[in-house]
This record gives sequence, C-alpha cells and structure tokens, in this order.
Amino acid sequence: MSKVHVKKEDNVFVLTGKFAGKTGKVLKVLADDHRVIVEGVNEVAKHKKPRGRSTQGGIIHQEAPIASSNVMLICASCKRPSKIGHKFLANGDKVRYCKSCGEVIDTIIAASK
Ligand SMILES: [Zn+2]
Repeated sequence: MSKVHVKKEDNVFVLTGKFAGKTGKVLKVLADDHRVIVEGVNEVAKHKKPRGRSTQGGIIHQEAPIASSNVMLICASCKRPSKIGHKFLANGDKVRYCKSCGEVIDTIIAASK
C-alpha cells in the first residue's frame, strides 16, 4: 500500500507553509519520508564547489522536499485541488478517483485477468 497519495508527474496544489497556493508537478516522491519534491516549490540555493575542470562551481537552485500532507492533487477533469479516493471498478481494477467530480484519475492496480 502506498503511503503517499500523490505520484510522480501529478499536478499538485500546496496547502500550507511558505508556498501555500502554489501549484507544480511532482518531480519525486519520497515515500518512506512522506515527502514530495514539487517543481518550483521550496527551491533552495545550493553552493556547489568546482570539481575538476569539467564541473563549474556556483549556485544551483534545487527543490527541497516538502511534506506530502501539505499538497493536494489537482484533478485533471475539474481542475480543482481535490481529495482523492480509492475504489474498485466493475472490471476489478483499483483506481484513484477525484472526490470532487468523481472522475477516475488513474489505475493503481489492474485486475488480474
Ligand atoms: Zn475532479
């Protein structure tokens, strides 16, 4: 069972914290830490030391993880940050669906045939 309700490539809305109201795409899910990295959210500057001749030093911007409970999935159908439910379809597939509009978002576990 997945502990994090969002997945890589999901579009999410940030609920709380410094970045509340921002939206972005999930770049990475850190399931064990219950954290996610969202594109353009919680960017931190990292100082990078030059290493050898090929790597230039300088400041690079990189997104730091935020708590997955702070983000909500944006439903592709109704375009709203929505609560996600899990259900089984008639064919046995387990899917994620939007609790706002009821649309199926994607399949989590395809029914074995
Ligand atoms: Zn929806």
